[in-house]
Amino acid sequence: MEGFLSVIGKAAIVYSWLFTDRHTSLALDITHRCNLRCKHCYFWREEHPSELQDGGMLFLMRRLRKEGLRAAIIYGGEPTLRLDLCRAASGIFDACLIFTNGTHGFPDIGRAKWILSLDGPEKINDEIRGTGVYWEAVNAVKKAARPPLVHMTISRLNKGCVEEFVAAMAELPIDGIGFSFFTPEVGDDSGQCALEPYERDLLLDEILSLRRSYGHIVGMTEAMARQLRSDGDFFSWNNALRCPVHKRVRCFSPDGSPKMCTYGDKADCSKCGCAAVAAYRGAFHPLDMKTLLMVFCLLGMPGSSLLRALLRPPVKKTENKSHARKELFGKMR
Ligand code: SF4
Ligand code: SF4
Repeated sequence: MEGFLSVIGKAAIVYSWLFTDRHTSLALDITHRCNLRCKHCYFWREEHPSELQDGGMLFLMRRLRKEGLRAAIIYGGEPTLRLDLCRAASGIFDACLIFTNGTHGFPDIGRAKWILSLDGPEKINDEIRGTGVYWEAVNAVKKAARPPLVHMTISRLNKGCVEEFVAAMAELPIDGIGFSFFTPEVGDDSGQCALEPYERDLLLDEILSLRRSYGHIVGMTEAMARQLRSDGDFFSWNNALRCPVHKRVRCFSPDGSPKMCTYGDKADCSKCGCAAVAAYRGAFHPLDMKTLLMVFCLLGMPGSSLLRALLRPPVKKTENKSHARKELFGKMR
């Protein structure tokens, strides 16, 4: 019965996206604490007011669910530091994604899906996230009861290793790899991490080429790439008034206070690289079945993974790992 109600809830989310302009989703930082100190992360550098206790956080989640938010993305800090809240969110919302750095494994949390943040193959990832983090996370993936998604934030620190990273991830039991571009805060890119528009365009070409080589495990469609391209739709939404995340997702800090977006109040929309915007706009502006299927898989719609597997385009097996880079360099010459 619970599973049936959850399916109805997921269908209601898609209905709202298609036919209403309501908020549908919650993005909640359940903690500001983290056991890592990633180079590109501004979260741990900032002062934060004390976070809500478990009771307050549960009350907030239940209240927002009653107000009609059926989907949730849980962030931190590191959410596994409050595992009971992860489990609670999984039960409260009809669809729930939870980001983690993977160093505490992938405990069973019910129907919610883990998203593992990694930023490259071992050397690059560990330069950014800390020594030993890559293998800790990868070994945990191998033991996970359900395959997690993997998410890479591409910045100046790791832009040269996307292909190598995808090749490494393709060997693991994962559900797919998503990509964002690093989004700086207004007036502060102290790590000089943000990429120029032309660099992002070239990387999008590379990722799409990797999708042709590795198949749907590479979570980027043409329609999604168009949202992030400087010669595509990027400049039609990259401000808070037009951004769909701002319109559809209510975002909260660990103390329960609302914020402009998942990246915080100071996020520089003009340089936004948000994967959620790319997926949402890619699926619905205009309707694109490949991206919609990806969104259904993210929501955990029954049958969507099977359908994705059945509709999988033929992977170019004869092409080796250097295929995408050759194609990219061909374009650059
Ligand atoms: S794991 Fe996430 S929250 Fe923690 S330092 Fe890294 S990017 Fe920041
Ligand atoms: S930073 Fe990106 S996701 Fe956040 S409000 Fe601005 S445009 Fe939207």
